[in-house]
Amino acid sequence: MVKRIAILGSTGSIGTQTLEVIDLHPANFKVEVLTAMNQADLLISQAIQYNPSHVVIGDESKYEFVKTALSGLNIVVLAGAKSLEEVVTLDSVDMVLTALVGYAGLLPTVKAIQAGKPIALANKETLVVAGALIMPLAKKMGVPILPVDSEHSAIFQCLMGESHNPIEKIILTASGGPFRGFTKDQLANVTRAQALKHPNWTMGAKITIDSASLMNKGLEVIEAAWLFGVDASQIEVVVHPQSIVHSLVQFEDGSIKAQLGLPDMKLPIQFALGYPNRIKSNFPRFDFRHYSSLTFEQADVDTFRNLGFAFKALDHGGNMACILNAANEIAVGAFLKDEIGFLQMSDLLEHCMSHGTFLTHPSLQDYIETDLVTRKMAQNWVEKNN
Ligand code: MG
Repeated sequence: MVKRIAILGSTGSIGTQTLEVIDLHPANFKVEVLTAMNQADLLISQAIQYNPSHVVIGDESKYEFVKTALSGLNIVVLAGAKSLEEVVTLDSVDMVLTALVGYAGLLPTVKAIQAGKPIALANKETLVVAGALIMPLAKKMGVPILPVDSEHSAIFQCLMGESHNPIEKIILTASGGPFRGFTKDQLANVTRAQALKHPNWTMGAKITIDSASLMNKGLEVIEAAWLFGVDASQIEVVVHPQSIVHSLVQFEDGSIKAQLGLPDMKLPIQFALGYPNRIKSNFPRFDFRHYSSLTFEQADVDTFRNLGFAFKALDHGGNMACILNAANEIAVGAFLKDEIGFLQMSDLLEHCMSHGTFLTHPSLQDYIETDLVTRKMAQNWVEKNN
């Protein structure tokens, strides 16, 4: 049976790699929906190639342009964030892959789960912001959440066949990013161009900056806690510069399982799309002769403070991770515009976490409000401090 996929964020790094995976397996998958925030040209060429039933352009000012370009084809063209919430519920969609950037992934994911659609989750911010709502909702609807993030895919794979065995500890691996080993003094002067050069992975700008600051690992700690039902004390981060061991799970007898592979996002993407089946692939194989040593070192939380903030937010619970995430989205945006320095991103997160209004049991509306208020607070801080 062909699985019909809605790809939210089809023009980004994960979106385009998802299309490459689908190209390899036309008998398994069909593209049903494509959406993009503002890369209209690429969205149009993807739509012409894959002939989905619906496309959504997030930027409403580009609606006429996309609609005209696709006229004559049997494709419904929609615009705006609200339309995402609509297309994920289509009867013709069998699975929703969410590869939107940041908080924008939250509401469409909620709608997709409510409509009973299995989720291939590449948008970690959704669980970071509102894992306390998402996970029970998915459970209630019987909807699987299949992680696309390489570390979480690794943990998910380690846990297959282990559902009756409690997890003692999750060990998340981190490459360490481009600034591994840097001191605070060195970090104070790093540039945007340096931060955008990741040693092992090619990704979008937001996640690449998050990787350089170890915020990405922090967000992944929170994501792992929700996906696998563990608390902050059960998660350890270890720096593994080769990015071959994608993460590990330790069980109560002391045994550790790990998942390994070359750093290629197509593998976790294909695993999520094909789950529960592994589909034969020709992706390059790991060869130990090219990796005579795999190394591990402790993460430096004193220098890379964002990782510590994530553990703190997870421990706090409530809307604290939502505050952290909103502050971080503004911080990364400001850093990319050269408005603040690399270390100021951490100062901004600290400011918002200590001045935001803490709520113990937020509703969906509270998360939306928290996100909005924190962004304003963060924006004000940027204006005062740049
Ligand atoms: Mg990851």
